[in-house]
Amino acid sequence: MVIQPMSRPIYLDAHATTPVDDRVLEAMLPYFREHFGNPSSAGHLYGWEAAAAVQQARVTLADAIAASPEEILFTSGATEANNLAIKGVAEAYYQQGRHLITVQTEHQAVLGPMRYLAGLGFEVTELPVQTDGRLDLADLEQAIRPDTILVSVMAANNEIGVLQPLAAIGALCRQHQVLFHTDAAQAIGKIPLDVQAMQIDLMSLTAHKVYGPKGIGALYVRRRNPRVQIIPQLQGGGQERGLRSGTLATPQIVGFAKAVALALADLEAESARILALRNRLAQQLGVPGYTDAPQPGIWLNGHPHQRLAGNLNISVEGVEASALLLGLQPVVALSTGSACTTAKATPSHVLQALGRSPDLIAASLRFGIGRFNTEAEIDRVAAHTLTTIATLRQSRRDYVGSTHQLLESVKQSG
Ligand SMILES: *Cc1c(COP(=O)(O)O)cnc(C)c1O
Repeated sequence: MVIQPMSRPIYLDAHATTPVDDRVLEAMLPYFREHFGNPSSAGHLYGWEAAAAVQQARVTLADAIAASPEEILFTSGATEANNLAIKGVAEAYYQQGRHLITVQTEHQAVLGPMRYLAGLGFEVTELPVQTDGRLDLADLEQAIRPDTILVSVMAANNEIGVLQPLAAIGALCRQHQVLFHTDAAQAIGKIPLDVQAMQIDLMSLTAHKVYGPKGIGALYVRRRNPRVQIIPQLQGGGQERGLRSGTLATPQIVGFAKAVALALADLEAESARILALRNRLAQQLGVPGYTDAPQPGIWLNGHPHQRLAGNLNISVEGVEASALLLGLQPVVALSTGSACTTAKATPSHVLQALGRSPDLIAASLRFGIGRFNTEAEIDRVAAHTLTTIATLRQSRRDYVGSTHQLLESVKQSG
């Protein structure tokens, strides 16, 4: 295949981040320029128009998850929202109990604060998952104790795209009077979310996985039935009813709401389009679960259907993902596992939790299909991936073959 030096690789890393949609950027620009005021400036027009824009965004985001506007707190992203939810609840409720439950496949932005609290003397249960990546509700029910104060289970996994049964988890938590937090960073704008129907008490959101800007997110905190308490983790000017101080980032907030509104307006049609692209890619690569003729040595990681439409995570037997990525990168930009874990080059804790062998974990690829991908791109990626796999496997066979010959000739001469 001829590589054109001027063309940029096809972007298939939508779980790491997404580009800002032009319509989102357009909505943001006035709030950098003429409407630059501080929403907390209560004495003049600049402040009022910024405050009005923030309030409108709050309403849009609340509507998106069936919450009320005053239940939305703006944060710098889902990492901060997760920290605020988990540490904030732990500090508010430690006199009722010091046991927290989460799941082994959570994002580091949940596992990190959980382990931090464990270091302070809280007790944390990290539940295993089934081989398809889904939480077993019986495991959860067994783990809940009289001193459990919080259960945190993500909506959609950032590596394998697997969706957790939020409504069933919410019902179980409500029945046992335990608060339920969900990290919905990958889910907002991709699947319907309803904090009432799903009985969710706290939910973390972020803009940059849904074609909004980086550096803005939100935490939903339930105010009624039950009223959830959190202790603020940042002290300062008392913004967000004292729960999250810091000047509100008006342009980012406006962009966040616009991004979510756009995604929800087109949720069904766009999910169907992306699902068709994902299934097409999976079929061309011969991934079991998507084709009647699976390719030997290709493994699917995670449940075939209870997953985000745009996610495909596979392991390719007999190749190193790092070599595969290097071969793929002129044509396609994707990741092994999560962007954050890749930087540390540690094996994926998510694939470990699925019970995958170290070899298959080291040979995993995560395709993340998004709004701007086309069928032609998918076909090009599939073809190039197959060629690259075949080349790597052949060079490995050649290497093993030549080693074998060398050993034979040593034996004969010896
Ligand atoms: C991206 C991501 C985060 C971190 O969100 P930021 O807004 O980048 O801090 C947390 N959880 C999940 C599941 C994610 O995918």
